[in-house]
Amino acid sequence: MGNLGGKVALVTGGSRGIGRGIAERLARDGALVAVHYGSNEAAAKETAAAIAEAGGRAFVVGAELGVPGDVDTLVAGLEAGLHAHGEPAIDILVHNAGLNLMGRPIEVLTPEEFDRMVAVNVKAPFFLTQRLLPRLRDGGRIINISSVSTRVASAHGIGYPLTKGALEVFSHTLAKHLGPRGITVNAVSVGYTRTDMTSEVLADPANVERNIGLTALGRIGRVPDIADAVAFLASDDARWITGTKIDVTGGVNL
Ligand code: NDP
Repeated sequence: MGNLGGKVALVTGGSRGIGRGIAERLARDGALVAVHYGSNEAAAKETAAAIAEAGGRAFVVGAELGVPGDVDTLVAGLEAGLHAHGEPAIDILVHNAGLNLMGRPIEVLTPEEFDRMVAVNVKAPFFLTQRLLPRLRDGGRIINISSVSTRVASAHGIGYPLTKGALEVFSHTLAKHLGPRGITVNAVSVGYTRTDMTSEVLADPANVERNIGLTALGRIGRVPDIADAVAFLASDDARWITGTKIDVTGGVNL
């Protein structure tokens, strides 16, 4: 068993991409993992099955975020899963699910698109945290998955980085508030990483070359690059780190 034995984690958007990598890594380290998904239940079940096959423990929780009642649905599913596993609380909360409407600069982004990104990327983590604070054990962890686009102006449009910037302020502010409970709150800034979210952009070799050229370590990010950093923040080794952001981008635009 790894260093998260006896811990319980919720990973939003844990069914695919970076979230799947985080879920698998935390489970490998010994945590019981709630693998959340929005609509793709099959992907969540596949992730939970992969965790079980590797000797870990997981259950799936479905809830579309960014719609009325989203937090109620998620918390109800989480509580059912926790109950089934004889667990009263969680230790690690990873806000990973995110929506990036690419190619929507300020000239064309609609109020509806703006609201949707805010609802999924900011409002859902905020109110999910609010609801789960009584269930998050003292000494716990909150880890918010942010983006390099809060540091480097991106061509995809301004809506998405704005939401991730808000998530970073949330991390910093909440870290102070939850310090007395020994709960750390940090953000992880992610650069271009191969997942479904970026598959279209990275299908163009010119985009791949451009992004590699911007990256000190000279390649596109891989899911384990991010998952390993999250596992560190979740571990006891990171007990004295709170209210900050770790840049896990391979050194983009240094
Ligand atoms: P993917 O699109 O590959 O996966 C997204 C995950 O989030 C899925 O599990 C999906 O579940 C879930 N999800 C998305 N929207 C919702 C919703 N409205 N309600 C519930 N669940 C939802 O994304 P990535 O793995 O690439 O991204 C993960 C995080 O990393 C995001 O926060 C993203 O902004 C951030 N990031 C990613 C970068 C990259 O290069 N990939 C760069 C910078 C940041 P389902 O399939 O069931 O809908």
